[in-house]
Amino acid sequence: MTAFQRIAVLGSTGSIGESTLDVIARHPDRLAVHALSAHSRMEKLAEQARASGARVVVVPDAAARERFLQAWGSDAPLPQVRVGAQALADTAADPACDTVMAAIVGAAGLPSALAAARAGKRVLLANKEALVAAGSLFMGAVRDHGAELLPIDSEHNAIFQCLPHGERASAPTRPAAGVRRLILTASGGPFRQHDPELLHGITPAQACKHPNWSMGRKISVDSATMLNKGLEVIEAHWLFAMPQDRIEVLVHPQSVVHSMVEYEDGSVIAQLGQPDMRTPIAYALGFPDRLASGVGLLDLARLGRLDFEAPDLRRFPCLQLAFDALAAGQGACIALNAANEIAVDAFLRERLPYTRISAVIAETLEWHAGRPSVTLNHLDDVLAEDAAARAQAEQIQARSVPAGR
Ligand code: NAD
Ligand code: MG
Repeated sequence: MTAFQRIAVLGSTGSIGESTLDVIARHPDRLAVHALSAHSRMEKLAEQARASGARVVVVPDAAARERFLQAWGSDAPLPQVRVGAQALADTAADPACDTVMAAIVGAAGLPSALAAARAGKRVLLANKEALVAAGSLFMGAVRDHGAELLPIDSEHNAIFQCLPHGERASAPTRPAAGVRRLILTASGGPFRQHDPELLHGITPAQACKHPNWSMGRKISVDSATMLNKGLEVIEAHWLFAMPQDRIEVLVHPQSVVHSMVEYEDGSVIAQLGQPDMRTPIAYALGFPDRLASGVGLLDLARLGRLDFEAPDLRRFPCLQLAFDALAAGQGACIALNAANEIAVDAFLRERLPYTRISAVIAETLEWHAGRPSVTLNHLDDVLAEDAAARAQAEQIQARSVPAGR
């Protein structure tokens, strides 16, 4: 890895995108923005492009391009404005950048993340849905094209930090030697102690109010249902080549221990820090060096205690659904993720009650179990399976009673 990195931040207007730009701006001697991408907030994108000196921006369509140009309103040289999903994938593979931050939310981020891996980039992967939908394809691309994969999800970044590794990140084909289990911590979200009977009337604002982390709306709802932790078990399975029965979920309400690795000799190594995504982002940008991130000190004396408990699978049915999908195989994982994206979107638009999110996923998984199995060796196969599952989940969701009626 050259010391100076030119970076494409895909999904720059999101929560992870903003934290990434914050860290990059702290290190002008070794980090620079090459490209930015956003789906909707064009004013924000223009502001970010001006501040970072991005050479390229990627927007979804011609109307967004117009809005971006209107928002530019500056004498500074206009960045090149690229349009559409293919331009996004091409930008991820652009020879003018070294590193790609994959921070688009949902399976929509899969083609560009895969393009970055196939171009042999240093890939900073925040987009966990890409691994859930296409873990084998993605990890194969990382290996075949000599890409460098660094996990951004705080738990996986923590595990990566606790595992033995050399100067270069890679895509393992077997569990690291001497490791017994990976222990993924989970905050339990805003409803950890809620009476399940009272969850029906939960509003999007309540579900998005996470006790420890400030994140995008979709992942905030996923954290409330704990499907997020299920997606992360699948993510850990692929990233670290770890069998499902050696990945443990542990509820830890303070979100200070970000995850742990248990070794054969009984040692458990943990990574701790404030719940601020700039730490894992700075780690991945600097790897193998350590960079200042702007994150404050961890004051354990002030915190006083750290609590742990086993997850309650009856309270969080989505977690069990994710375990079931991983055991069932890749097609089921695609269906799980697609159904969740549909259900969470409907919940956020107040078209689906909170408690029906798990039901939409469960019914979509049942539908999937009755389908003939298909090969999923190519991106097109994955996208077709994803589209079929979305269509099915839409139908199931539409049959549900709208929220609050
Ligand atoms: P967010 O909603 O804040 O931002 C999403 C970004 O993706 C935005 O820039 C948006 O414009 C872009 N986008 C949305 N739909 C798109 C589409 N169809 N095509 C292209 N671009 C699109 O989300 P976030 O919280 O920053 O999360 C991003 C990813 O990182 C998710 O996969 C999430 O699971 C993962 N992640 C986030 C956090 C966190 O703290 N926010 C932590 C761990 C992992
Ligand atoms: Mg996480």
